[in-house]
Amino acid sequence: MQTHILGYPRIGSKRELKKACEQYWSGKILVEELLNTGRNICNQNWAIQREAGIDLIPCNDFSYYDQVLDMTLTVGAIPTRYHEVALKKNNTELDLYFAMARGYQKEGLDITAMEMTKWFDTNYHYIVPEFYKNQQFKLNSDKIFNEFASAKQAGINVKPVIIGPVSYLLLGKEKEEGFDKLDLVQNLLPVYIEILTKLQEQGAKWIQFDEPFLALDLTEKAKEKYEWAYSEIRNKFPKLKFIVATYFDGLKDNSSLAVSLPVNVLHIDLVRNPEQLDKILNTIPETLSLSLGIVDGRNIWKNDFQKSLSFIKKAVETLGSERVFIAPSSSLLHSPCDLDFETGLNPEIKNWLAFAKQKVQEVVTLKELANGTSDENFLAKFAENKAAIASRKTSPLIHNEAVKQRTSAVTEADSRRKNSFKIRKEEQQKALQLPLFPTTTIGSFPQTAEVRNWRAKFKKGELTAEQYDTLLKEETERTIRWQEKIGIDVLVHGEFERNDMVEYFGEQLNGFVFTKNGWVQSYGSRCVKPPIIFGDVSRPNPMTVYWSQYAQSQTKKWVKGMLTGPVTILQWSFVRDDQHRSETCKQIALAIRDEVVDLEQAGIRIVQIDEPAIREGLPLRQSDWQNYLKWAVEAFRISSSGVEDTTQIHTHMCYSEFNDIIKNIADMDADVITIECSRSQMELLNAFADFKYPNEIGPGVYDIHSPRVPSKAEMVELLRKAQNVIPADQLWVNPDCGLKTRHWDETEKALIAMVQAAKEVASVLVEND
Ligand code: GLN
Ligand code: ZN
Repeated sequence: MQTHILGYPRIGSKRELKKACEQYWSGKILVEELLNTGRNICNQNWAIQREAGIDLIPCNDFSYYDQVLDMTLTVGAIPTRYHEVALKKNNTELDLYFAMARGYQKEGLDITAMEMTKWFDTNYHYIVPEFYKNQQFKLNSDKIFNEFASAKQAGINVKPVIIGPVSYLLLGKEKEEGFDKLDLVQNLLPVYIEILTKLQEQGAKWIQFDEPFLALDLTEKAKEKYEWAYSEIRNKFPKLKFIVATYFDGLKDNSSLAVSLPVNVLHIDLVRNPEQLDKILNTIPETLSLSLGIVDGRNIWKNDFQKSLSFIKKAVETLGSERVFIAPSSSLLHSPCDLDFETGLNPEIKNWLAFAKQKVQEVVTLKELANGTSDENFLAKFAENKAAIASRKTSPLIHNEAVKQRTSAVTEADSRRKNSFKIRKEEQQKALQLPLFPTTTIGSFPQTAEVRNWRAKFKKGELTAEQYDTLLKEETERTIRWQEKIGIDVLVHGEFERNDMVEYFGEQLNGFVFTKNGWVQSYGSRCVKPPIIFGDVSRPNPMTVYWSQYAQSQTKKWVKGMLTGPVTILQWSFVRDDQHRSETCKQIALAIRDEVVDLEQAGIRIVQIDEPAIREGLPLRQSDWQNYLKWAVEAFRISSSGVEDTTQIHTHMCYSEFNDIIKNIADMDADVITIECSRSQMELLNAFADFKYPNEIGPGVYDIHSPRVPSKAEMVELLRKAQNVIPADQLWVNPDCGLKTRHWDETEKALIAMVQAAKEVASVLVEND
């Protein structure tokens, strides 16, 4: 039996890489210092794994920005627009690399960054390779060889990790018509062969190919490419040992393909898809070993040793101990680094957790236990583990009978508004008296340095609660006055009291806990610190009523209440794994429902429940979509259905690719949905038009992600386009998303123009009446 790790977090246990990168980008440190930070992190990571006793430690899992971009640079898939950057005489390879990641605006050049997108269903984002017809590749970077060499120097037996050729191509985007990216595999493979040749010369014995697409829906053509690529590789390197790593879902219909690849070890994700073990064990050829991904690489819970040992036992019975490998389910990139830093956590909760460093130890302990160790140390760990798992099952910190009863008593009626949208629309019109093309914003107004500074001072005790409250009230009132002045129809309070749209709610709900240092890489130097949902969720007190009510008391216009929806809260947290996600989501939904009802009671007539993360929760396999959408939509409906017909429910999503899920979006039955639309020039509204979406829509008329101020004429043009496909009495006018990252001056100019645009379009309509 052998242990291995697919990849280790590379941000550094104190986010050293983030800090060094940002300092390098702003010219505060030289490249040598950045490289030094990188080397130190690698050495630390290797040391942690070696000391724990891992047999096969990865290298090339480190990256200064993104592992897919590393591969792009390595195989020379550098889009021509960056060639000039490479030619500038003081630029290093790393400068070219960062230009691809982040764009390049200096020395008279203005080059856009490469596109970034989500890494499967994680919150990590990778840089999308760009492919062209007949593209040629060539070995273009020594990064992987350098990393291998420094591991060797440190005396570590490392296994270089490379994104497999088929997954690499599938991750990319065709930037011109008339070819299929998969056909580039013929041109790409020689570079892989060159890389492997060099690594073999350097002394590498093992290579890990990440092929996550083997766990996704594959076309016949992709399957053929897998067969072809791996038989070529095997033919050229009869002696190298290859691991093909799959993760994030089960192999399912691709199992026979996966087990037939001529490699040495196949890694499967038994956390996401434990069911696949039996099928694989039944079909695996004698030449193949199996790596069991049993320690969750993507969540923060302690492994259940007893359960894992039963998997290992089963595999050993069929394959023999020699052919069994033990590993985390995926790269540990998606876990925070080290639980030891969490000195402030409730010790009982802390005892249920394991971060990357602890997961490495778990893998080793599992191997020892599976081998029947008599070492006291490991046996004690087993006993501790059993106790921790048992305490999670019964702890009153987790289990709240009242919450469980309430969720199980939810009926269909709880997820239905009193009447249909048609009736509600009339009622709401009577009650709210809004004009045609009503204007609103998505919730947040600029979180200036000043506002953030107040919060920081308040947290440090440099401002009293009263002082902080007064400052926020002044800012809120100013924002209300200003919205009144420029003539916005539905006002917002501005969200100045909020740090983050999930954290703000998590901090006020039971069942959540926050870490001090539980950072996970989101993209490049950007890290997030997701809340941990450890127990049954309930709402001890109203969460937003104070601010919404205060804002409403300042104006005769309607102020929209502002909440984060249950699916988004779930999606952006570490979620408990002792019950189905849908159950946790339902508990959150009920808490939000109570908040919506309380807002209504407090005189708030319009409430927005943001669900920007509904789409990203979609399972990787299309066959699982409907099941997810069913409970996700139901959760939203539970949260929004406690109110009277006259209360208008809005939702907001930060995207507008709705083609494939438009029916489910309509099922959410929000009275108004605001979406992103300006970047596609309203094209994406077609999904709504084709579906004859019945409720109201606010297609964003300007892009808030850029400081650019749009003109009134542009927005009029977009509204006309929208009007061509959606009846005017269904349309709202709003920006794409919240304004919290913008400055006040651009926000003021843009919103004034937006209100004028709405008025212009509305007046034409009234004249034509
Ligand atoms: N109400 C939130 C805001 O305006 C919505 C943010 C989001 O959708 N990402 O900031
Ligand atoms: Zn948004």
